[in-house]
Amino acid sequence: MFADRIVRARREMTERNVDTLLLSVGADLPYLTGYSAMPLERLTMLVLPRDGEARLVVPALEAPLVAARDEFSIVPWGETEDPLDLVVSMIDGRGRTAIGDTTWSRFVVGLLDRAPDLTLANASEVMTPLRAVKSADEVACLRSAAAAVDRIAARLRSGEIAIVGQTEAQLSAELGRQIVEEGHQKVNFAIVAAGANAASPHHHAGDRVIQAGEVVLCDFGGTMLDEAGVGYCSDLTRCVYTGEPPAEFVELYDVLFEAQAASVAAATVGTPAELVDRAGRSIIEAAGYGEYFIHRTGHGIGVEAHEEPYIVDGNDEPLEAGNAFSVEPGIYIPGKWGARIEDIVVADDSGPDPLNRVDHSLAVI
Ligand code: ZN
Ligand code: ZN
Ligand code: ZN
Repeated sequence: MFADRIVRARREMTERNVDTLLLSVGADLPYLTGYSAMPLERLTMLVLPRDGEARLVVPALEAPLVAARDEFSIVPWGETEDPLDLVVSMIDGRGRTAIGDTTWSRFVVGLLDRAPDLTLANASEVMTPLRAVKSADEVACLRSAAAAVDRIAARLRSGEIAIVGQTEAQLSAELGRQIVEEGHQKVNFAIVAAGANAASPHHHAGDRVIQAGEVVLCDFGGTMLDEAGVGYCSDLTRCVYTGEPPAEFVELYDVLFEAQAASVAAATVGTPAELVDRAGRSIIEAAGYGEYFIHRTGHGIGVEAHEEPYIVDGNDEPLEAGNAFSVEPGIYIPGKWGARIEDIVVADDSGPDPLNRVDHSLAVI
């Protein structure tokens, strides 16, 4: 799998006139090698030339963590060595060098200090086309992660998870506990927003005690490891109402429900991403809530919780088979309430394939 990905990366490098690819902290490195750089001050960097040997420069004390692979050699550096000098010695000195988008600036600045003639580009040029199209195995990983959070959402909807009387933070912690219990390696986020807090899309769960008679928006997900130790993300939003919802909220939710389904149905291969956004947004606008839908419809998902393709007005790139992304319209009325419905969807040749299958209706508990 990693050998194949490196071959594809080199093909992209050739097409985009990139001579060397440098990857450090972030998701690109584990995607290509199965190894994640420790996000500490010591440099870990894959030096992947278009032709020739790939080398992973790694702190000597972390070298035992790297599984030996045929695709690259391991170059440990000792505590008194300068790892950037090592990297510069491996780059030909000429040509274009694509460097990982999340590489710390201290390393980027350090490289430019040592090699002022270096022409740098973002590694996403090379990596985005690879990562945005998921293989069948990757879709299977995303599907397992989606099924895990679906089971948690089903327990939220059935009332099996205590909600009323808990603080947002307590419910968030419980969701996090269940995310791990359901097989994720780690929790990425567990947003719990009750009542008027649900009008803030990325609300931080706090001390507010959840009352009877209000909306509770829960948006949660984590990272689940595949057999090779590479993580794939889940991301799901469902809303419950603690008691009978007022007619005004039911009306809002019905519009959102219809909009979300319309965007999912629009997510066919070949459709420009912005038309997936448009499909749901036009329904929300027609119902008079347009100004309250304050974010894009969705983001790609894979080894990172947010990646390409973005489902947003202005992105006229057509969806490709294997693209995986969220469809998550929301309506947020400041000071009052809000709602969002989110699924992960894969654009498949046979049509949109929603990975999350838990009921989308407003659960009343
Ligand atoms: Zn979000
Ligand atoms: Zn989400
Ligand atoms: Zn999302």
